[in-house]
Amino acid sequence: MREGVKMEPASDSNLAVPLKGTERDLQLLLFPFPAEPKKVEETKQVIPPLWRKVSEREWDDWRWQLRHRITTYEQLKEILELTPEEIEGIKHSKGRLALAVTPYFASLMDPNNPNCPIRRQAIPRVEEIHLSKNEMVDPLGEDKHSPVPGLVHRYPDRVLLLVTDQCAVYCRYCTRRRLVGSNERSITQGNFEEVLKYLRSHRKVRDVLLSGGDPLLLENERLEEMLSRLRVLPHIELLRIGTRVPVTLPQRITGGLVRMLKKFHPLMISIHFTHPKEITEAVKRACVELVDGGIPLGSQTVLLKGINDKPSIMKKLVQELLKIRVRPYYIYQCDLAMGTEHFRTSVATGIQIIEKLRGYTTGYAVPTYVVDAPGGGGKIPLQPDYVVSRGKGKIVLKNYEGKIFEYPEPNIIEFKKARSTGEEKVVPKKVMA
Ligand code: SF4
Repeated sequence: MREGVKMEPASDSNLAVPLKGTERDLQLLLFPFPAEPKKVEETKQVIPPLWRKVSEREWDDWRWQLRHRITTYEQLKEILELTPEEIEGIKHSKGRLALAVTPYFASLMDPNNPNCPIRRQAIPRVEEIHLSKNEMVDPLGEDKHSPVPGLVHRYPDRVLLLVTDQCAVYCRYCTRRRLVGSNERSITQGNFEEVLKYLRSHRKVRDVLLSGGDPLLLENERLEEMLSRLRVLPHIELLRIGTRVPVTLPQRITGGLVRMLKKFHPLMISIHFTHPKEITEAVKRACVELVDGGIPLGSQTVLLKGINDKPSIMKKLVQELLKIRVRPYYIYQCDLAMGTEHFRTSVATGIQIIEKLRGYTTGYAVPTYVVDAPGGGGKIPLQPDYVVSRGKGKIVLKNYEGKIFEYPEPNIIEFKKARSTGEEKVVPKKVMA
């Protein structure tokens, strides 16, 4: 083992890449690592006066929650102390991305703090009006990979079905803002037969991901019909659902829903979590119910400036997720959706977060950080560079603490040479009785 600090400078001043001796001291002096907040904002649920008279039965009813979603400025100002930036954002959200917040999700918002992470995700702000030149209507190029309306076929063995355009809460950074919430209609209602026909003739597809919008907003009967018609296709090995409902409307996860989903194993669910403040008792119950139904749960998290772009916040999130039996799966770099530049961090920030997780917490808690390539190139994984150099017969690596190690590569050439000259020591095979 050899210790030393010989690393190349990082392209981003936030990135924790050691430099040589005095250069590193100078870097730290010029660009000190951003101070970590002392405490990650804790979960706090306070039911606003507007709903204090609502019975527990109604509050726990997902249909009541959906019927009473906040969708207007007048309703919002009853529960939050709105800032001029928010008022302006709400005014301009019409005709852009719909505004909708379940009473449950609203009860997690800090009414007096506009920087509350729950509030920032769901309440429009004036920054949404600003469109950057790099932004796109369809950042992942899904429309051009859509042979049938509502079906995206980008990877060889799996497809994405956009089964609805409804969500319980509309996230202000949504990649599919071109589709979601527009008419509250189901995208594949009329063309599911066409989707099935396409799948029957594409037998290499072995994995179907139901997304949207949020598939768990469909009634059980409709979802069951879709899943059962997909399940009978012999080449479909795996069904997956992408959802944010367990976070924004945990009341939807009922015994009846889980019993129905259990019929379609192997079935996996990816849940969109953003901040540790989202992990409430109701969310824990929902996740435990799903896992007890034999459904493996993974999380997907969008990296968002001012919301979860600190290693301490991500660490708390991934550790809390493991406690409720959700495996942190992906951290996504925020896509180039229209009006979302204020949410985007540098890529270096994402790499630094992984650097602060790997080695510092359980391996199961470390997600893969990916950039979904603009225009439709698929997910590209990124991680800190742990390879210092590659030499003849060895590779020099850096561990999570920055310590340097050499790993000798297997010497195939010498082995072959020894064999051809008869120098190889032959170990007699054991004769098994
Ligand atoms: S839940 Fe997903 S699809 Fe719906 S608004 Fe949020 S990011 Fe978009």
